[in-house]
Amino acid sequence: GIPANYDVAIIGAGPSGSIAASLLHQQGKRVIVIEKQDFPRFSIGESLLPACMRVIEEANMLEAVNEAGFQFKSGAAFSSKGKYTNFDFTDKFSDGPGTTFQVERASFDKLLADTAESQGVEIRFGESVQDIDLTQDPILTIKNREGEVYCIQAKYLLDASGFGRVLPKLLDLEKPSCLPSRTAVFTHIQDNIDPVALENIHFDRNKILISVHPENKDIWYWLIPLSDSRCSLGVVAEPHLLGDAQADLQTVLMGMIKQEPNLHRLLANAEVVRECSLLKGYSANVTTLATDKFALLGNAGEFLDPVFSSGVTIAMQSASMAAKCVVRQLNGEELDWDIEYATPLMRGVDTFRTYVEAWYDGRFQEVIFFDAPDNKIKQMICSILAGYAWDETNPFVSESERRLNMIVELCR
Ligand code: FAD
Repeated sequence: GIPANYDVAIIGAGPSGSIAASLLHQQGKRVIVIEKQDFPRFSIGESLLPACMRVIEEANMLEAVNEAGFQFKSGAAFSSKGKYTNFDFTDKFSDGPGTTFQVERASFDKLLADTAESQGVEIRFGESVQDIDLTQDPILTIKNREGEVYCIQAKYLLDASGFGRVLPKLLDLEKPSCLPSRTAVFTHIQDNIDPVALENIHFDRNKILISVHPENKDIWYWLIPLSDSRCSLGVVAEPHLLGDAQADLQTVLMGMIKQEPNLHRLLANAEVVRECSLLKGYSANVTTLATDKFALLGNAGEFLDPVFSSGVTIAMQSASMAAKCVVRQLNGEELDWDIEYATPLMRGVDTFRTYVEAWYDGRFQEVIFFDAPDNKIKQMICSILAGYAWDETNPFVSESERRLNMIVELCR
């Protein structure tokens, strides 16, 4: 039969999909979201950046997020060879929110999806997109819970499928990332951190803690305090640095923690409360981000690296930018998607890329751990760490590589 007709079909109900759906629905567009899994479902990526709070507000979801009881986050802390430094996100160069949350993604993503539904968005859970036909207006082939296959048609298609990368795979858009392949091993712990017993160790529940391996600056750890005395804990390294490939993941992770004395002491009484997981080769890129028929959001497009917790922020930013373009096109405007969407989105992604690359080659670590930072410069860097990577008034955004190299020289 003739497939049901929508203005916009969205693949995936993660942060980018739910936010895009909400924004489009608010503009009076007929939206449908197809989500493969049932929520709540686990996802990695618990530390948000303040810049994403603006998009959450745009989607009228700020109240719901503020009231959900997530762990407050005010900044990022870094530790290396006993050195500790931190960035308070409220002390930044760019305008905009200076605080955010550290969230268990299962409940956070469900909250966003539920809120979008309560606003009137239709989400079909437990259904997966199997195929796409772009000959005319996009047609999606969908498999439902019962295993039946059906089609829908929409005037525009947004791929918010994250690491599912539905369109990059189906349309052969995948291209290798510029970053080397790294592996993350992670879990959730009941941290049992006793502040009294830890007089000499810095620890702030309101900040993500990024620790650098004492002997190898290519290896780093995240500790993301969550509510309920839990933390997300993980290590990132090129695979050959993670020790015995045959060992079980918990042994690998705990073996790596032992090698970082500060973290080892901090987590002396920690209990693992979730099976350890491994993700490898997660950095990904594409040849095309958007055309007049589809756009890729969030991780379905490009994923860099977890070190600055930029993933959800990029996902939400892309949703916001794409939604505005979709509305314009549906309202009859002719759009150059490269100029209007891909290029402006990539400006911020490329800013993050500059700092990710400089983290791993050591330049940015030198800056972060420099003893006598200039306050104005620190605020500009703080802005980027807070997610304001699209703020062209910040010289560390508009000329990121040149400015970074200048302060690297100063630090030396
Ligand atoms: P997702 O949240 O992945 O959502 C995609 C959805 O699409 C899923 O629910 C999936 O079920 C659905 N889907 C997939 N295929 C189909 C299909 N065929 N049909 C229908 N639905 C489908 N980001 C941060 O901001 N902070 C962090 O601290 C952080 N840490 C990270 C650590 C690691 C090790 C890694 C690898 C990533 C980390 N990230 C972090 C990144 C973060 O996980 C992602 O950027 C974020 O989840 C992207 O959101 P999204 O909406 O694009 O996709």
